[in-house]
Amino acid sequence: MSTAIARLKEEFLRKQGEDAAVLVTSPENRFYLTGFLSSAGAVLVTPKKAYFLTDFRYAEAARRVVSGSEVVCIKKMNDTLRELMEQDGVRRVFVEFERLTLKQAHDFEEAFAKSGIQVEKGGALDGALQELRTIKTPEEIQKLREAQKITDDAFTHILDYIRAGRTEREVALELEFFMRRQGAEGVSFDFIVVSGKNGSLCHGVPSDKVIEDGDFVTMDTGALLHGYHADMTRTVAVGHVSDEQRHAYDLVLRSQLAAIDAVKPGVPCEDIDKVARDILEAEYKGAFEHSLGHGVGVEIHEWPRFAMGCKTLTQPGMVVSVEPGIYLEGKFGLRIEDLVVITEDGCEDITQSRKDLIIL
Ligand code: ZN
Ligand code: ZN
Repeated sequence: MSTAIARLKEEFLRKQGEDAAVLVTSPENRFYLTGFLSSAGAVLVTPKKAYFLTDFRYAEAARRVVSGSEVVCIKKMNDTLRELMEQDGVRRVFVEFERLTLKQAHDFEEAFAKSGIQVEKGGALDGALQELRTIKTPEEIQKLREAQKITDDAFTHILDYIRAGRTEREVALELEFFMRRQGAEGVSFDFIVVSGKNGSLCHGVPSDKVIEDGDFVTMDTGALLHGYHADMTRTVAVGHVSDEQRHAYDLVLRSQLAAIDAVKPGVPCEDIDKVARDILEAEYKGAFEHSLGHGVGVEIHEWPRFAMGCKTLTQPGMVVSVEPGIYLEGKFGLRIEDLVVITEDGCEDITQSRKDLIIL
C-alpha cells in the first residue's frame, strides 16, 4: 500500500467505522494516492483492501507502477465498484464532493443504490485529502527539489539568451525547450514572460513584443517532474534601469526576504502575507493585489495560501511559494518568487537562483 493510502486510511477512513470506504476518481488525487498518471481510473479503499481500477489501456502499465493496491481491469466501472464494495461489506462510500461532476455523483448514487450503499457527499473526504496533501513527505519534497533544480538551471541558461531584440515568446519557448531537454515531463503551467510595460500584467501571456533596452523582463516558470510542480519567478533588466526600477526591485526583494524570514511553524498564514504586504504598501499602495503565496505539489496551486484571511497555521512539511511583486500600469512590473519548505524551526528556501538585480 502506498504511503499516501496508508495515511488516508489511518487519518480518515479508520474514524468512519467498519462499513465505510473511500472512492477517489479525480486525476490529481488518484495520482497522489498511487503515483500513477492516467486519464481514467478510480482508487477504492475499503477497510479490508485498496484497489486501483482502470481499463485495458492502462492496466498493464498500472501493474508496473502501483504497489500495494490490487489493480483491477474494468469493463463497467460503476458495476465493478459496487461489486467490490459489496464483497468487502461496505455500506457507505465517501466521494470527492469538490471534484465530481453532478453527473458522476448521480451515476454513483444510482449504481450503488442497487446494493444499498450510500454515497457520502459532505466534503469530508476532500478536506482529509487536502490536509494530507498539504504536508509533504520527504519523498515528495525531494521530487519538488528536483523539479526546482531544472527550473533554476533554466534560469541560468536564459540569462545568456535574453537580449534586446528577442521577443517574449522566444524567451518563453527557450525556457521550455531547455527544461524538456533536461528531462522535465512538461511545464508546471503556461509560462509568463512579460517585459517593459507588459510587466504590470501579473499573469500576462508571452507576446511578440520585442524586448528593449531599459525593460524589466519578468519570467514566471516551473518544470514538471515526477508529477510535481516547480514554481519560480525572476525579473531581470536589459541594458540599464531607472532609479525607480532599482528602488522598486530593492523593495520587492526586501519584502520577500522579510517574509521568508518570518516563515516558521505555528504562524497563521495571513501573518506571513502581511509581513511582505506592509513593506510594499508603505511605498506603493495598491500595487500588490494578489496573495503572497500558495502551496505546490501535484497541482500548481494547493493549500495553504499565504493570503489575507487565511488563518491556517503553518506546519513542518508545507511547501509554499513566496512571491511579492509590484505592478505599475503603463510603466513596469516585477515579481520575485521562491519555494520554501517549512521545517521544525523555520524554513528552507529550495530555490537556488540568484535574486540580486541582474542587468543583462
Ligand atoms: Zn509562479
Ligand atoms: Zn506561484
